[in-house]
Amino acid sequence: MTKLPSLARARWLKKPSLQKVFALVAAAGGEARVAGGAVRNALLGEPIGDIDIATTLAPQDVMAAFKAAGISVHPTGIEHGTVTVVVDHTPYEITTLRHDVETDGRRAVVAFTDDWKADALRRDFTINALYCDASGKIHDHVGGYADILRKRIMFVGAPAARIKEDNLRILRFFRFLASYEKMSADRASLAACVRLRKGLLGLSAERIAREMFKLLAGPKAVPVLKLMARHKVLQNVLGHSAAFRVIGRLPPDPLLRAFALAKKPESLRAAWRLSNQQSRRIEALLDGTVLTPKLRENERRILLYALGPEAWRDSVHLAWAGSRAALNDRTWKRLLTLPSRWTAPVFPVTGHDLIDLGFPSGPDLGRELKRLEDHWIASDFTSTKEDLLESIRGN
Ligand code: ATP
Ligand code: MG
Repeated sequence: MTKLPSLARARWLKKPSLQKVFALVAAAGGEARVAGGAVRNALLGEPIGDIDIATTLAPQDVMAAFKAAGISVHPTGIEHGTVTVVVDHTPYEITTLRHDVETDGRRAVVAFTDDWKADALRRDFTINALYCDASGKIHDHVGGYADILRKRIMFVGAPAARIKEDNLRILRFFRFLASYEKMSADRASLAACVRLRKGLLGLSAERIAREMFKLLAGPKAVPVLKLMARHKVLQNVLGHSAAFRVIGRLPPDPLLRAFALAKKPESLRAAWRLSNQQSRRIEALLDGTVLTPKLRENERRILLYALGPEAWRDSVHLAWAGSRAALNDRTWKRLLTLPSRWTAPVFPVTGHDLIDLGFPSGPDLGRELKRLEDHWIASDFTSTKEDLLESIRGN
């Protein structure tokens, strides 16, 4: 058995709000341990994201203990045993130990338990089934630490059986591969993911999108996407292009990468239930404004005014990634950073100004305003309100 390290010296573990969680659970007669991603990343030397807690206490007892201590408690996933507590402004998800009773490939019926090993056995990968207690001691029931050392993603238990319980695990397998520079795939686990790839077809848009966004942001997104494409896994997630070179040249922004990856980017909104803000970014890219360092300065300003800074940057990133230019090319860099040097002024004329001049309100007014705005843009945004209104009076 591999000797387990201690996280006793980890700064995040000493955080008073986290230690308060451990203490309150202990005072209520239970035990809490940090589980999953935080322990994995700490042992891999990667940055820690959310700290998720597992506990032997039943959900009702967790709620009662924290409420009694004057801490706000939210039953965010109470049906599967999760409550969120907010201690000194830090939220922690506390989930009661579970074992799966029944699964249908998409969701599990769970039963609560106080058996740490049973809880470890229902987790997806060995590196995700490690726990760290209040003192920093690591608890490993499935050989997860050995896989941390070997940098290997491997299912807990028989891969095919674990995939059939929840097909999302196929995608999570590739997501974790993409998230770490040096991770490699356990062969039997990869083979099962490939063989059972059709299971991805029945999953909800939200669950797919959540994992795909994390996969796309990963440092190894491109090799992993290629691996998925080669094994015909990716086509069960998304109708995809072969723009891997472009994706690899984009910043690790999942939305930009998704746009380049999708065969029909216009379908992403529905397929991945994008937010309004994400959909707006996709729509701006679909407009297809062509940005290149060949544009003259005034042309750049006109296009930036029309697009706004976000769509400008997105469009430059895509055009640059799709070009032959090097990624340290100074002319492209300058094009990209125009919004930090130039902010479009505000168009100085309003409808009220025209009405004050005796212009009747109605569709003509809108057209006249648009004409003046074009005039103002053509002046490289230099015409003043007086200049513009003068041009009307002169008519
Ligand atoms: P991240 O750093 O992205 O949050 P994570 O490992 O914490 O990574 P989560 O999706 O937050 O990932 O899940 C928390 C833990 O819950 C996992 O580490 C794993 O132990 C378990 N888990 C999550 N999803 C599944 C699943 N579909 N099947 C089995 N176990 C799962
Ligand atoms: Mg997590």
